[in-house]
Amino acid sequence: MTGNKPQRSCLGCGATKDKGDLLRFVLSPEGCLTPDLKAKLPGRGGYICPHRACLALAIKKKRFPATFKTPVEGVVQEKICSGIRMLITERVKGYISLAAKAGKVFSGSDAVAGRLRGGKVGVLFIATDLSDESRKKFAAMAGNAGVELVAMFDKESLGTLIGKEHRGVVAVEPGGFIAPLKRELEIFRNFFDGEV
Ligand SMILES: [Zn+2]
Repeated sequence: MTGNKPQRSCLGCGATKDKGDLLRFVLSPEGCLTPDLKAKLPGRGGYICPHRACLALAIKKKRFPATFKTPVEGVVQEKICSGIRMLITERVKGYISLAAKAGKVFSGSDAVAGRLRGGKVGVLFIATDLSDESRKKFAAMAGNAGVELVAMFDKESLGTLIGKEHRGVVAVEPGGFIAPLKRELEIFRNFFDGEV
C-alpha cells in the first residue's frame, strides 16, 4: 500500500518511490543543478534515490538535461556531492543550534553519559578530535542505548554551535528535531559512506 502519496521515479536506477523518500534537484536561475533538501524550491524537479550510486547513474545516463529539457551546467558528480555536503552540514548545524536554544541539548561527559543510560538521547555528536579512549567509551554506550553516533564536527565547532567552550560530546534529546535531523544524516551517510 502506497496510499495516495505522490510517487516519482529515480533518474538513476528508475525505481518508483514516494516523493518524500527521494532527493529532489532543481535548476537554479543560472541553470545549475541544485539539491533541494527540503523539496521546497520552485520549478520543475528531478528526483534520485538519496544515494551516490543513483546520482552517478543519472549523470551517466544524461538524465538531468533530459528531465529539464535544457543543457544543465555543473553536472559533475564531485561538484554535486560537495554541494550536498555543504547543504547538509549547514542544516545539521542549524538543528543543533535550534535544539540548544530550545534547551534540548546536553554536553560534557558526565551529563551525556547519564542521559544515555536514562534513554534520553536522540542523536549523539562526538567531536572528530575526541581522544580514542573517549570515542570508544561513548561508541559503546551509544551502541548499548541504540543511539545514532555522529562525528561531523570538532570540539571547537560543537562548542560554538551550542554557545559554549569546546565540547567533546553533545547529545540532542529525542523528539522535536530528531526525525528530520536523522533523515539528513542518513542522506549524508549514503553519499559520504564511513565519514560520520
Ligand atoms: Zn535510484
